Amino acid sequence: MTGRIRNWYRLTRGRRSPAPEGVSVRCPFCANGLSQVLDSREVGRLVRRRRACRSCGRRFTTYESQAAPSLQVVKRDGRIEGYDRAKLLSSLQAAVFKRGILPEGLQATVDAIEAEISNLGVTAVESRQLADFALERLSLLDEVAYLRYASGVRKFNAGEDFLVAIDEVRGQQRRVAQARIQLQLQFDEDQPHWN
Ligand SMILES: [Zn+2]
Repeated sequence: MTGRIRNWYRLTRGRRSPAPEGVSVRCPFCANGLSQVLDSREVGRLVRRRRACRSCGRRFTTYESQAAPSLQVVKRDGRIEGYDRAKLLSSLQAAVFKRGILPEGLQATVDAIEAEISNLGVTAVESRQLADFALERLSLLDEVAYLRYASGVRKFNAGEDFLVAIDEVRGQQRRVAQARIQLQLQFDEDQPHWN
């Protein structure tokens, strides 16, 4: 374990949320949000990933929670199917098409969504809830991708639907910005005062 850094996946909901642009794994040396996965294996309910930072090149290890493989998704029409990471990923890929989002960023987004579902401790989620998690992440990643994804999952059929979604994504961005400020204030308060 020498030199190995355990960068436990932070579940980012509510006021604890540092919400780092949908990229939840940060380099422990330089805080850069993009890393290359060199090796990946399951350790109990966690996935251990050996990563190389894209910025400083240093290597670190993360232990990430993953949605239980047995997770079921309840569709709108009541049908139930097994959770499919590849399917979620490809729907997100369609949403970010030509938006300059790196594949690692998208993988990290799916990791974050899976971690949030895992945090719920449930064995089934509604597809609507899964879409909401995806939208929440996309709002931090890219506005246009958010609108594309929302228009697909909510079956937009008029321009007004986009206007409502724009309000939604902007509101979500404001809440995250506000949460960040509060987090910083809390952090400042927790620091020892030398006077
Ligand atoms: Zn780094």
